[in-house]
Order: sequence, then C-alpha cells, then structure tokens
Amino acid sequence: MKIIIAGAGAMGSRFGLMLHQAKNDVILIDGWQEHIDTIKEYGLQANFNGEEVTEMIPIYHQSDISSVEFSADLVILFTKAMQLDGMMQSIKNMVGEKTKVLCLLNGIGHEDVIKKYVPLSNILLGNTMWTAGLEGPGKAKLFGNGSIDLQNLGNEGKESADEVIAVLNDAKLNAKYSDNILSSIYKKACVNGTMNGLCTILDSNMADFGETDVADVIVESIVSEFAQVAEKENATLDIDAVLAQIKSCYNRETIGLHHPSMYQDLMINNRLTEIDFINGAIVRKGEVYGIETPYCSFLTQLVHAKEQIMKAK
Ligand code: NAD
Repeated sequence: MKIIIAGAGAMGSRFGLMLHQAKNDVILIDGWQEHIDTIKEYGLQANFNGEEVTEMIPIYHQSDISSVEFSADLVILFTKAMQLDGMMQSIKNMVGEKTKVLCLLNGIGHEDVIKKYVPLSNILLGNTMWTAGLEGPGKAKLFGNGSIDLQNLGNEGKESADEVIAVLNDAKLNAKYSDNILSSIYKKACVNGTMNGLCTILDSNMADFGETDVADVIVESIVSEFAQVAEKENATLDIDAVLAQIKSCYNRETIGLHHPSMYQDLMINNRLTEIDFINGAIVRKGEVYGIETPYCSFLTQLVHAKEQIMKAK
C-alpha cells in the first residue's frame, strides 16, 4: 500500500518504520527541519525493543511537497493536535478521492479539522495504545506493544476499513474495528485530561499526585465534566472504569513514577502542549452544550500560563 505518514515525530516514526518493514511504500512528511535533514542523511534510526535499526525512508518538508508525485492509498496523521490543520493544508493536494485518512492523535474533535479537507466516508478515527519517544532528531525509541481501534466516520461501516486494518495488522500493529470509537477516545482523553495537566502544573509524577488528599476530588470533578460532554456526543463513559484506569496510573510498581507526556513536552522539552485539544476541547464543547466546566477551564488556563512563563515553542 502507498502510505503517507503526516507528522513523523515519535509515533509517526514508529508507524512509518513498521509499515516500511512490512514492505509498504511509505513516505514521511514533517515540519521539523533538523529531523528531516538527519533522516535524509542517515536514515530513520530507532532503538526498536533493544535492537538498533536504520531504514532509509523518503522524507519531505511539508512546505516543499508540491513536486512530490505520490498517489497515496492511506494517510496516517501523527502531528501534535495544534499542528493538524497546518499539515492538512500542506498535504491536501496529495489526498485523492480514494485516499483513506486515519487520525490517531490524542485529544478530542480532530474530525472537525479533517472533514474540511476529506469526505467523511474516507476518514478513519482511531485510538492507539502504542507508545513512542524521540531521543533526538532522526532517532526514535520504540519499546513495548500496543494496539489500534478505529472506525469509519461515514455510514460505510467496517468493510470500508478492512483493507487498512489488514495492512496495519500485516505490520504487526494490532488493529481492529470499533463500533464506538468516540467512547474509547473520550476514555483515553479522561486519563490525559487528568494526569497530563495536573502532573505538569504540580511538577509531580503520577504516584505522588495520586497520594495527595485532593487527588480524588479533582480527578472526579474533571472526569464528570468530560462525561457530561461525552454524553451529549453519544459517547457513553463508564465513570467507574475511567476512574479505575486513572487510579492505576498511581501505582509505583508499574507506571506511577513516570511523568506523563505533557510534562515531558513542556517541562523537559519546552514545547507547547495539546491542552486545548484535551481539557480545552471540553470547555469549548461545554459552552455549546450549556455544561459548566470550571475544572477543565482552570486547568487549561494554568497550563497556558505555564507555557508562557516557560516561553515554550
Ligand atoms: P512528537 O512531538 O514526537 O511529534 C509531533 C511533531 O512534532 C512531529 O512533526 C515532530 O517532528 C515534531 N517535533 C518533535 N520534537 C520536536 C522538536 N524538538 N522540535 C520541533 N519539532 C518537533 O509527537 P508524538 O509523540 O509522535 O505524538 C503525535 C500524536 O500522537 C499526539 O497527538 C500524541 O498525543 C499522540 N500519541 C502519542 C503517543 C506517544 O507515546 N508518543 C502515544 C499515543 C498517542
């Protein structure tokens, strides 16, 4: 299959590498010049479950693709949420009538951006449990296992996604069709909407936050705001299951000593966060539906203030 990875950071590198190794015709499109130059010169390098691998995969800057001739069967979007519209604008001429576009970004409401450029019948919305990191430009760190749930946004149903699922599974990416992708997106967004912003603002790992006296009341309030908005979008949330998943993040024996990805982005790498597409999306949707969202609103403001104090880019 001819596949564009649009946004070739940590996750785009994982998917690009695994799909390339499964003999698909893959190209990467990105906006980070140093990363692009490194991959052009040395190939995409990765520590892949402890093994050093290098694959030569074509990569292009998103502002310089007008001469690239590549009629893609599939585009996989892996920008940060705030980069999505710019990327869609850059690649819109490479998205043909039959090109499927799969969005696996964290956060809520990305379909509103994508459908400006792609018919609903070609949009696949998904949720992934794969993880990835970057050690520096051109070098990914890919450990562990994961999975993908995805759903077609039009009325075409499962058959319209069969070919894409088969290609992902051929690359051992463990994909399956979901009849209710919005619920799993909201469930994951609840974990991100609590752990990410709170641990970033409190400069805390997940275990230390979870053991504070106020952890339960703050987390339950945020999840309640997510659940009220989700219900309006026909995405039912099992609140007990969501709270159990969040509390499992506090476990010191497993992942509790880790800092979530937003902490890494802002506090370690001085980068802007995806808060507007997690808690901020709940605030915007809450305004539309007449739902009060004071906790999500305050947390979004605090994270933006921290970004400004740190002069994040
Ligand atoms: P990423 O930050 O690694 O890459 C996103 C974009 O930012 C890429 O275009 C990349 O080149 C660019 N970028 C990365 N580091 C940069 C730097 N130092 N300077 C300039 N540009 C830089 O993001 P990601 O982790 O691949 O995440 C993509 C999407 O997938 C996000 O929505 C994220 O929330 C989601 N996601 C990530 C993970 C994970 O484990 N990383 C897991 C599931 C979902």
